[in-house]
Amino acid sequence: MTEGDMELYDLRLVVDRIEGRSVCGMEVGDYCTVTHSSGLAIPDGRRFCLYALSAALPLIPAKQRRLPGSDWLERDSEVACPDPEERLIMRIERTGTSRHDSEELT
Ligand SMILES: [Zn+2]
Repeated sequence: MTEGDMELYDLRLVVDRIEGRSVCGMEVGDYCTVTHSSGLAIPDGRRFCLYALSAALPLIPAKQRRLPGSDWLERDSEVACPDPEERLIMRIERTGTSRHDSEELT
């Protein structure tokens, strides 16, 4: 194992609040994780709304990287599920870091 020349944040995508009606059956506190660059995991027995996930996906690669403090994405971590009935808001948390070999990722 090499040390890895590149560091990425491990992320957790958590349902922060549901202001409407949960159409997809998710509850506050449900989460999925993205670790080791692209590994998606959902806790046993739980599910995660595909549409909520798809809304968060574009932000994942940016959130994995340390951004300048002035970048709005460094401070803003909330994403909404696109289903208007739900008004489901998720937050993206950084749970740790993992090191990678950039040559293996490209
Ligand atoms: Zn949903």
